[in-house]
Amino acid sequence: MTDLKIKSHARKRYVERIRQPSHYKHLSTCKLNCSECQKLNGDLQCVVNNFGRKIDWEIGTSYREAKSNNWIIKDFNFIEAIKEKYGEIGAGRRCFYRNKNAVFVVIEDEEVPVLVTVLDISMVEGTVLDAFVGTNKMASVFSAWKFQAKQRKFR
Ligand SMILES: [Zn+2]
Repeated sequence: MTDLKIKSHARKRYVERIRQPSHYKHLSTCKLNCSECQKLNGDLQCVVNNFGRKIDWEIGTSYREAKSNNWIIKDFNFIEAIKEKYGEIGAGRRCFYRNKNAVFVVIEDEEVPVLVTVLDISMVEGTVLDAFVGTNKMASVFSAWKFQAKQRKFR
């Protein structure tokens, strides 16, 4: 495949968060690198080693469908949170394609677009909260979400 370079990190996150989220749930909550974490990381490595081509095909198909339909995340709060995390320029390099539960984080200013990671859609809200909880921006975050939810209702 030449239209998307898939980082090994992204391949693993796709298996962990999209393909078998219930099996790997512990990894997103523990963060202690305990023996269960180590076992699951071993499972991930094994799956990627043995099914890498199939996984790349799945990712590629899903990404291309999202891209050709222009399914891009436009949540204002999320974009602001990404700016907070990576700076204005770093955020500008990232594109967020969504297909079902998967969010493909792609850097497109390279010769070939690079998939750097894959998020589950529920992590979008978490990213926003991580960036803004405890700051004076939370009130505007919630009012923007309320506004977006209303718009969805009336569409
Ligand atoms: Zn653990």
